[in-house]
Amino acid sequence: MSELKYRRVLLKLSGEALAGEKGSGIDPDTVQLICKEIADVARLGVQLALVIGGGNIFRGLSTSAKGMDRSNADYIGMLATVMNAVAVQDALEKMDCPTRVLSAIDIRELCEPYIHRRAIRHMEKGRIIICAAGTGNPYFTTDTAAALRGTELKCDAIIKATKVDGVYDKDPMKHSDAVRFDELSYDETLRRHLKVMDATAITLAQENSVPVIVCSMFGGHIKRVVCGEAAGTIVKGE
Ligand code: UDP
Repeated sequence: MSELKYRRVLLKLSGEALAGEKGSGIDPDTVQLICKEIADVARLGVQLALVIGGGNIFRGLSTSAKGMDRSNADYIGMLATVMNAVAVQDALEKMDCPTRVLSAIDIRELCEPYIHRRAIRHMEKGRIIICAAGTGNPYFTTDTAAALRGTELKCDAIIKATKVDGVYDKDPMKHSDAVRFDELSYDETLRRHLKVMDATAITLAQENSVPVIVCSMFGGHIKRVVCGEAAGTIVKGE
């Protein structure tokens, strides 16, 4: 295990990571692909905690903009993350990776409640923990949940795996001259409003000195990051 740069990692996946080409819902083939990447990382002996978004199913903010009460909308969003967590659990266990879904909202027929000490114990036993229902509170995002869990579980790094292979100065899908950063400070990320994670999440990571790495979710990039190879963009203190 000496080749590992990060021994305990919080991996954040947006809900869209599970949607595939359709852009919404859960696409089982895409879930398989992403879970294969996760299983490859787990087999290195890395202790893994996952936080999965719900934007492929429901986003509280955009729905409240259409008239729904924000808290109600956000609770639906949190339930969406539980559905995604169960889909990822199913795929990982079919790949022989033991997992536990730990939910910030009590849904005891389906998953365990999130209990800090128990979460750590699961990881020490080699189980991948899937933290569902975000922070359990409305007005937050799963990016913030990732920063919170990554900090309290004493993870060495938060990896945000996305469709894009890092952080760019402008949207690389729209601008062919967009430049990718190898490294950024928390302050610069916040000052330039770069699309890494929302400001609450970045601030939490900064206050607790947890590096955030943005990389591609496919092509073995997560594994490369964990092994300390150059991949993606790292956001850390100056
Ligand atoms: N959400 C929430 N509190 C949390 C985490 C999530 O209220 O701590 C709700 C919020 O409505 C959000 C939705 O769950 O829009 C889905 O999460 P998010 O948008 O972060 O998912 P992602 O963009 O990563 O797919």
